[in-house]
Amino acid sequence: MRETSLILLAAGSSSRFGLPVRKQWLDQGGRPLWLRVAESFAKAAEFAEILVVGGANELEYMRLHAPQFHYITGGASRQESLSNALKEVRSEYLLVSDIARCCLDRELLERVLSHRGEAACVVPAIRTVDTVYYGEEPVDREAIRLIQTPQLSRVEALKRAFELGEFTDESSAIHALGESVLFVEGSAKAHKLTTPADLKRLECLEPPSSETFTGYGLDTHAFEEGKRMVLGGVKIDAPMGFRAHSDGDVAIHALIDALLGAAGMGDIGEHFPDRDPRWKGADSAKLLETVVARILGCGFEILHADLSILAETPRLSPYKAAIRRRLAGLLGLPLRRLNVKATTSEKMGFVGRKEGVTVHAVATLRPYDWRKHL
Ligand code: MG
Repeated sequence: MRETSLILLAAGSSSRFGLPVRKQWLDQGGRPLWLRVAESFAKAAEFAEILVVGGANELEYMRLHAPQFHYITGGASRQESLSNALKEVRSEYLLVSDIARCCLDRELLERVLSHRGEAACVVPAIRTVDTVYYGEEPVDREAIRLIQTPQLSRVEALKRAFELGEFTDESSAIHALGESVLFVEGSAKAHKLTTPADLKRLECLEPPSSETFTGYGLDTHAFEEGKRMVLGGVKIDAPMGFRAHSDGDVAIHALIDALLGAAGMGDIGEHFPDRDPRWKGADSAKLLETVVARILGCGFEILHADLSILAETPRLSPYKAAIRRRLAGLLGLPLRRLNVKATTSEKMGFVGRKEGVTVHAVATLRPYDWRKHL
């Protein structure tokens, strides 16, 4: 089987899933769904290589989960993602599967692979038991085939087929090329995860891990005369602001680092580099929203965060409640789970000399408990 590579498509935006978490990142006993699918294929058959197609800004994060696979940047469509991966494939045959067909039926896999060489594309299909209409006209349901994955294609034929246009799968592309397509019996187990209602139908799913992860963040900014001061997303009435590439919201920066720390996603500088003109004068609340979406999208829920602001000046007691409300809102947390503390440093050090402000933050995450949708 070494002349067959495997491509797993995990770059989808999960727009029909309708939850903050994208389906490829649903936690399965401590690992994301895409990894569990990749591992189940790797265990079931021997492949020349396994390529996982993911979103451009999460390939590094995926690699941290499983360095043994190759990672490819996804495109705007299924075919574009697949074309990116095809450039890297060196084998004669290619098996392609959607991560959303997450319950691997080993018998189906063996059935598809056993027909290798018999057609340019081997594709699993199931019959429908429902009456089918095309527009206003009923059609012969015996003639209807519903196409599934994994599909096995000859690499050279697939490359030529994709030059003909845009297709929704490999079999239709290879059919358009006039090359042979062989249908094999599909499997009810290969049902696709599309909406939360599908979670009930997919019996192979494992419950999420109950682990929690705590991250820590620290940031310091010096004062700058005449700049507008924003702290914790709240405008502060002060004669100075913070020297920074962005708006200098030192509290939000510390909180972002705490969140990224808990998720294992590096630090704020990797996500929003100082040198990048896009972040010049950036509203840090927007950066926090981006980070929260990224963390939720990758399968976490935020449980709690706590901040300590060290400032000799300005006096923060009149602003603490507003900062708390603002940050809780940005994190989607009830007020009890987002705490803000302010203290001075007793006139010692750079904070005591009124040169700037330091903020410490911690945040706790856990894998999103998708069972609430069962
Ligand atoms: Mg900073």
